[in-house]
Amino acid sequence: MLRYFPLFADLRGRRVLVVGGGEVAERKVRLLREAGATVDVVAREIVAPELAMWVQERDNASGAGLHVTDAGETGSHRSPVAWRAREFDESQLDGATLAVAAASDAALNERVSAAACARHLLCNVVDDAERSGFIVPAIVDRSPFVIAISSGGVAPVLARLARERIESLFDESFGALARLLEAWRGRIKSALPEVAVRRRFYEAVLRGRTAALVRRRQEDAAGRELERLLAAQAPAASGSVVLVGAGPGDPGLLTLNALRALQEADVILHDRLVSDEVLALARRDATRVCVGKAARGQSGSQERIHALMLEHARAGRRVVRLKGGDPFVFGRGGEELEFLARHGISFEVVPGVTAALACGAYAGVPLTHRDHAQSVRFATAHGGDCADGLDWASLALPRQTLALYMGVAALRTVGERLLAHGCEASKPVAIIERGSRPDQRVTLATLGTLAELAQAGDVRPPALVIVGEVAALAGALHWYGEPPRRWESLRRVA
Ligand code: SAH
Repeated sequence: MLRYFPLFADLRGRRVLVVGGGEVAERKVRLLREAGATVDVVAREIVAPELAMWVQERDNASGAGLHVTDAGETGSHRSPVAWRAREFDESQLDGATLAVAAASDAALNERVSAAACARHLLCNVVDDAERSGFIVPAIVDRSPFVIAISSGGVAPVLARLARERIESLFDESFGALARLLEAWRGRIKSALPEVAVRRRFYEAVLRGRTAALVRRRQEDAAGRELERLLAAQAPAASGSVVLVGAGPGDPGLLTLNALRALQEADVILHDRLVSDEVLALARRDATRVCVGKAARGQSGSQERIHALMLEHARAGRRVVRLKGGDPFVFGRGGEELEFLARHGISFEVVPGVTAALACGAYAGVPLTHRDHAQSVRFATAHGGDCADGLDWASLALPRQTLALYMGVAALRTVGERLLAHGCEASKPVAIIERGSRPDQRVTLATLGTLAELAQAGDVRPPALVIVGEVAALAGALHWYGEPPRRWESLRRVA
């Protein structure tokens, strides 16, 4: 049985009586004002600061002979709030559409509720579903698109939890999308009179390029796209690719945009570096393809990735190209987008937490520090050839931090080159394997002992190498996983 009848009420210009002057009343008045209601407050004292301000605003405006209506300077509704009386009296309910009992005095709330009931008025008693004629849901506001959630007053915390989850599913562009569709509704209806056809059209719009353009804050272009689709009548399935940064492994480091993209994807093309925990957050029936690329990205597999993106997008699917860390940091994201642009496929980019930032954070290594490093360099040291392409003289300069990606195979070279360019043998190095993952391991060494560490051969990718004074701080600032191992003491044991 449906315990409560859900409804959205139009309160613009209607009177609502609120009894109470504290924070609880203030919360309700805020929402009522946003909905354009005319609020009358009855309270002995108005203690909530914003509520006092709204009442004050009205007094000022009416003192100057102004008529306060809903057009505020920010475009938000600013309907009047009046402090009607100090004591509640039944007659105050005359002409009210709804009542809210939000006083701290339970007996008073009960009186308000009983009086409202006698007049066949719906009254909400805050935090008292039993005495309430209506309850107020938790909302996700993407106006004009609004989602209301209620646990029927039984478990407000649960409703709040649900709200948080839903909040993350709909980005801010949802409101803009709803406004666009509202503006076009009449034209779409007359162009596509048949309901089923219209529904398919809307679906294509919402899943396709138009919605993507709104997300990219290109609303004019979205309007043109809608016009084009409408002229074509049958909307061609238009697929797209979202290049998503999956972060270093801990799923908590995904952005909300990344999570949404994963939940909307038809196809996910992911690197081997992407953790299972992250993949588990994707839409259940999305097709997942591991497109490899472990340590050294083979160009053969790159061509295959391009071909797969093209094939799926052309078939009208929403493709997520999921990469470890950030797609634009040593991830060949640039090349992939150039390819898509050349082939006229629509794309978006969602940045991710790159390994240097994550490993620094999870190992207790601040990449910059006023005492030790004023700049930080991200470089890749994979393979001997690549190492030769690096400007070692500038990498060896003091007061900076080096974050070296793909450096496991080049550990020895890194040590040798930096020493040859004048770095001290005592310069600290931190090697972070599987940063942010449950089995993260941090090893502290120095440039002078790096060759030995490489020789021992127990550092495995993915690992990030941080060179600089800040690396030593991991000893004191570590907070995640096992404390760092010190190579110096390990080798003495060996
Ligand atoms: N686009 C990725 C980097 C890809 S290159 C990013 O922004 O992080 C792959 C290299 O990234 C690995 O060889 C390693 O050096 C580093 N890396 C990625 N994830 C890592 C992790 N969880 N821990 C340590 N290093 C990592």
